Amino acid sequence: MNNAKLFIISAPSGCGKGTLIKELMKQFDVFLSISCTTRKPREGEIDGKDYNFLTVEAFEELIKNDGFLEYAKFSSNYYGTPKAAVDENLDSGRDVLLEIEPQGAFQVKQKCKDAVMLFILPPSIDSLNRRLHRRAEQSGETEEMIQKRLATAKGDIERAYEYDYVMINGDLDLAISDLKKIFINAKNGGEGLNDFSAKNMKDRIDEVLKNA
Ligand code: 5GP
Repeated sequence: MNNAKLFIISAPSGCGKGTLIKELMKQFDVFLSISCTTRKPREGEIDGKDYNFLTVEAFEELIKNDGFLEYAKFSSNYYGTPKAAVDENLDSGRDVLLEIEPQGAFQVKQKCKDAVMLFILPPSIDSLNRRLHRRAEQSGETEEMIQKRLATAKGDIERAYEYDYVMINGDLDLAISDLKKIFINAKNGGEGLNDFSAKNMKDRIDEVLKNA
């Protein structure tokens, strides 16, 4: 029987999820979907590896041709998950990981009821603010863009209550270990790991939002 799972990870941009996902993929054979986007590449990003960087016209053509499992407009840019690669990998029995924001995550959940959703919280909005500023020094993002990302992050975090699992990316080693635990638990049917349920994490989500 094919037990391949579809995992969705959402986290505000600047939350450090990329590092965590890399660690997960060192241990597990998971296909990480490469999204399409119309945003400009940041320094060091490679077309076809980090994203497929498309023009708005090319992206809209793909929408028309039903090429996306989901897509969303986020911070004035399109982002979308190409459907074919996800289907191929799941059909061949390989787990698939989507790293997408909540609008897209819930679109996928509607279509694939067995998809498992994880939200990664920053330890605080303050720490996210600092990370975004640090990254902006390299990418040249303006203060206005950072503030827009922060506002979006707050909106995204409000949806964390609806996820299957919620964890915090504070201490890196702990976060890596938490992510692996969650992944293994989800693979095994999702029973018994209540520490990371949205219900049990409610106070932590409230706390992050209270200071937002
Ligand atoms: P960034 O511009 O920082 O790379 O990503 C911005 C946001 O877009 C992040 O929250 C990221 O998870 C999300 N994202 C990346 N790819 C996709 C995608 O294919 N679909 C959707 N809906 N969101 C995506």
